[in-house]
Amino acid sequence: AYRAHAERMAAALTGLDRVVVAAHVHPDGDAVGSLAAAGHILRALGRRFMLYARPGLPRYLDFFTLPAPLYSSLERPPFAPRAALLLDCGEPERLGPELAAALPRLKSVNIDHHLGGSGMGSLDNWVEPEAAATAQLVGYTALAAGLPLTGGLAQGVLLGLVTDTGGFAHGNTSAAVLALAAHLVAGGCDLAALRERMDNTWTLGHLHLWGELMGRAQLLENGSVAFCPVYLEDFRRHQAMKEDLEGFVEHLRRLRGTRAAVLLREDAPERCKFSLRSFGPVDVRAVAARLGGGGHRNAAGGTVQLSMPAAQAALLEAIRQEAQERAVEEGSAAQGTEAGSAA
Ligand code: 5GP
Ligand code: MN
Ligand code: MN
Repeated sequence: AYRAHAERMAAALTGLDRVVVAAHVHPDGDAVGSLAAAGHILRALGRRFMLYARPGLPRYLDFFTLPAPLYSSLERPPFAPRAALLLDCGEPERLGPELAAALPRLKSVNIDHHLGGSGMGSLDNWVEPEAAATAQLVGYTALAAGLPLTGGLAQGVLLGLVTDTGGFAHGNTSAAVLALAAHLVAGGCDLAALRERMDNTWTLGHLHLWGELMGRAQLLENGSVAFCPVYLEDFRRHQAMKEDLEGFVEHLRRLRGTRAAVLLREDAPERCKFSLRSFGPVDVRAVAARLGGGGHRNAAGGTVQLSMPAAQAALLEAIRQEAQERAVEEGSAAQGTEAGSAA
């Protein structure tokens, strides 16, 4: 079903040169894997490219080999950029202000799996919310370009799949994802080795931070919402970094009976970042969107210019409103069915 799109993307990439290959700020494994895989494709096509993501690789991915240096600024590019390939980035703001400002002067192609931002590529867009990872789409693009999925290209695709499916466990782990992963492993990728290098990177401070946060977690809204706040002071005390929180919110969601998990992180006295997780039909993207954020149905996030207590109140209110609207919609849908069967 993706074949025609992948072929169109392969053709679009062939038409680009002096390309800034960019992913969202604070890149995760899908962003980094997509950057790497796309870089390998452009190299194979003989195009000049640079890799761009702010502020750089997270520490848990510093082992990962990229096909070119990663830039976190456009101040000294290796060439004057003419084009951009945008990856895993739902909206232009998520590229960071520098590239977002430069974007109107560049021909751009956008490959992504977030809802929204579907038109931000000026030349072409492939936005597939049903895809598990952007790296999945980049992998199909490589195949459409006639490239074998081996070496660094394959590693990039696998890193993206592993990250965004939670190690092939989330609801987005389709047959197509597993087939692509099988193809990568058959091509020489070592899944266990990748996991070992990604996962076994913790500092003691990281572990202690998690211990303290686990002790602090609460159940709210009659047990339906798992909640945990993280303060700037926590990072200082444990000499930990923001990225050490990666994966923590998934543990909150493990609490029996919860519909949604909320991790709230203080970034400044009046600025907080929130991470939301859910399972199945519970849509946390809609909750995040009420507060200016975005993401996917079961994994979403955003930033609010509020104090921690105000942000907590705003999030809980958004969750209540969203649940209420769903209940009203379901109610009217059920009524509609009754009316239909009565007629
Ligand atoms: P996380 O909670 O792991 O930071 O992010 C989960 C998902 O939420 C990401 O994959 C991304 O799609 C989305 N997300 C996180 N932060 C933001 C944000 O500030 N803005 C938007 N639009 N989406 C976000
Ligand atoms: Mn991402
Ligand atoms: Mn992604």
